[in-house]
Amino acid sequence: MKQDASYYQIKKVHLWIAIFVTMCAAWVVNCKQDLYAGWERFQEKESNACEQLDSKLKNKKKCYLCGKNKKSMMAYYRKFDTIGIISLSDWYVMDLGLQEYEEQENISENDPHISFRMTNLGGVSIIESSAPDRGMATMDISLSQNCEPDTQILQKNLCQNCLNHMMDALAPSAYPLCLVDFQTLQIYSLQDCYVGYSIRDYWVEIEYDDDRVKIKAFYLPDRQEKK
Ligand SMILES: [Zn+2]
Repeated sequence: MKQDASYYQIKKVHLWIAIFVTMCAAWVVNCKQDLYAGWERFQEKESNACEQLDSKLKNKKKCYLCGKNKKSMMAYYRKFDTIGIISLSDWYVMDLGLQEYEEQENISENDPHISFRMTNLGGVSIIESSAPDRGMATMDISLSQNCEPDTQILQKNLCQNCLNHMMDALAPSAYPLCLVDFQTLQIYSLQDCYVGYSIRDYWVEIEYDDDRVKIKAFYLPDRQEKK
């Protein structure tokens, strides 16, 4: 009596396709929660995209960006020909370390060296290293999961003109960061659609990796101007 075959023949290519599909399905099931969390974070950033707001600052001279306010480091850094960042979760201003200065406005003549600075405020952690004599600096910024711009601080302490520029810089997503030129007070967006800037004599490259932002900055004056 002839028995039914207990196995089937399939082509090798079909077998590999079946294995590949099974492995993909297993990977999706395994990473489902991570993928969903990533999608939620993306949606949250998109929904946080900032709109234009009304300033509540009565005295323009006290503007954190263009005025004189002792609570903002802008008044200090404005004396210097350099660029920096502003953390908008708590209005923390920091230069990129491309040049060093004495108490007055002259460039420091310290021996060549590399300097490091670290700070962690308002959910924004910054590690900066710079070689001022070479005009090079890097900044590695890590953002905590719920870190976002404090729009109340911005509304209370920026004049309407500066607030408008700041809110423009926060669209389309809402990394709570921006670059600032201390000489012109121009704001440059640090959202993930901007990967570089040429700011006067400074060249800036930016990389984004989820909740991290890496900045490389160089001081590159025009040789023609020095002739
Ligand atoms: Zn202002």
